Formats: sequence, structure tokens, C-alpha cells
Amino acid sequence: MEKDLLIGIDIGGTTVKNAIITKQGELIAKWEVNTDLSDQGVRVPDDVWASIENKLTELDISKDRFFGMGVGAPGFIEPETGKVAIAVNIGWQDFALKDILEKVSGLPVYVENDANIAALGENWMGSGNQVENMIAVTLGTGVGGGIIANGQVISGANGTGAEIGHITVEKDGAYCNCGRYGCLETVTSATGIVRQAQELMEVGKAEPLQQRKEQNGAITAKDVFEVAEAGDADCKELLLHVCDVLGATLAMLAITTNPAKIVIGGGVSKAGDIILEPLKEAFEKYTLPRTNEACDFEIAQLGNDAGVYGGAYLVLQNS
Ligand SMILES: [Zn+2]
Repeated sequence: MEKDLLIGIDIGGTTVKNAIITKQGELIAKWEVNTDLSDQGVRVPDDVWASIENKLTELDISKDRFFGMGVGAPGFIEPETGKVAIAVNIGWQDFALKDILEKVSGLPVYVENDANIAALGENWMGSGNQVENMIAVTLGTGVGGGIIANGQVISGANGTGAEIGHITVEKDGAYCNCGRYGCLETVTSATGIVRQAQELMEVGKAEPLQQRKEQNGAITAKDVFEVAEAGDADCKELLLHVCDVLGATLAMLAITTNPAKIVIGGGVSKAGDIILEPLKEAFEKYTLPRTNEACDFEIAQLGNDAGVYGGAYLVLQNS
């Protein structure tokens, strides 16, 4: 039977997203299963394969049509072995994800970090537009990143390539989940934006934000964007600082890899022009004119589906 299909899998701490995608990038089916976190997540691969087998039966699709499965998993992945060195939110440690999935499925399996795979997906079927050189950054609760250089996603010697969120941007800055201080994530994530807004309110600044806090009990990054957009100078300044820091970091990465596109995703990217315009200005300020000329900024298009598309693309790339 001629092979024409790919399976993309995106494993998260709450759900596992699965998709069947043609080699042309057409979505055939997409579904989710809950991530079973009991016993350090030991049953996750079996659950995933069981749900795929059910789906193949339901759709009457033969397993022989598949090139393989591409999996995005959280944490650090050993590129050579497809082992998950550590994934705190699932409970895996030195977990042989690739081997286990290949054994139960009988299909070739490729494993990558979830942020890297999202970059691949966004480049294949989203706003990356299949460029050879691209940087993707996701600004959500944390900051994730993926870098594609000469068509290949960079995973590095031991799976920490493109951990953009943990580039130090403020010496002795705020505490980061990685155990260090002043990482990009502490400044430019939604969580970081809220933290900096709290600091403003503590010294009596950003009054309209203070009012929202009194009304709602807490504030979100969205509140900060709205208050800035309504004209509050303190929140505007905060966002300018966020864009300056992000723009400088992206400029350094861009001088390293010379991307044709920088794709911004995650909740913070929904703020739109109030973030994008000052970000482009900061980028231009800190990078070479020629590097800037080659590079377009885009907002990510695939949202939560980027991972399954990227998984499928990883299979295609290796087949
Ligand atoms: Zn960090």
C-alpha cells in the first residue's frame, strides 16, 4: 500500500492532541485524549496509541498508509535517542518515549521538544510560509521558542537548543522557574507583564489598573494592554520596556541565524499592534540593517494546532 499519511502528536500536561494529516498538509482528523499523570505518566504512550488505533478503525484507515508518527513533548528531549530527559509537568525522567511508541505502534517515531515542533508546524502550514530560516517565539504563561536554520529545527547537543525563554536579559532580575534569575520569560511572558504591573501599582502608579484590580480582585496581562491602549502612560512605558527587551533578544538571535521570518505566538501576541509595532522598532534598533531587511514579523496562525502539524512535518522531513 502506498504511504500518504502522517500522524502528529502534541503531548501536554493536561491533554494529548492527535491528528492525521496528509503529506500535503491536509487535516483528516483531529482529537484529544486526557493525559494520565498517575504513576509518573507511565501509561501515556499506550493511551495515545490506543486512541490512534480506535480512530483508524473508526475511519477505516489502514496503518500501512502511514510514514510514521511525530511527537512533540514538553521538557528536554535527547535528539539522538528520542528520550525525554526530564518533563516535570508529566513526571517523566529519562523516559524512552520514542522506543516505547515504536514498540506499541510498529511505526517509525520521531520526538522533539513541543516548542520546537510548534515552530516546525507554524513554518509548514502557518505564517512561516515554509522559509528556510525562521524564529518562533510563544509568549504565554512562559516563553517558548523554536529556531529553524537552513530548514532544520535546532535541538542542539542535549535538547536545550532555542530555549529562548531562558536567555538572561536582566542580571539579578526576577526569579525564574528554571531556578535562575532575570530570564526573558520573567519580563516578556504574560506572567512577567503582570508581575511588573504589580510593581507599578505597589508604588502608586498605573491608577486605572489599580481600579480594575479593586473591581476584579486581580489583573491579567490583557488588563495591562487595555489600560495602555486607553492611554495610561505607566502601562505604556511598561509595554515599551517589554518590547525593548524582546526586540533586543530577537535581534541577537537574528544576527546569529538571519531569519526571513519571526513568528510571534501565544496569548500576548493577541495584543496586536500595541506590541508588534514597538517590537519591530526595537528589533530594527538592535540588529544589522541588512538582517532587518530580510526579516518579516508575523503573528502565529495555527494556535494550539501548531504542534500536531509540526509533528506530522517532522515525519515528512525524515521519510
Ligand atoms: Zn529561566
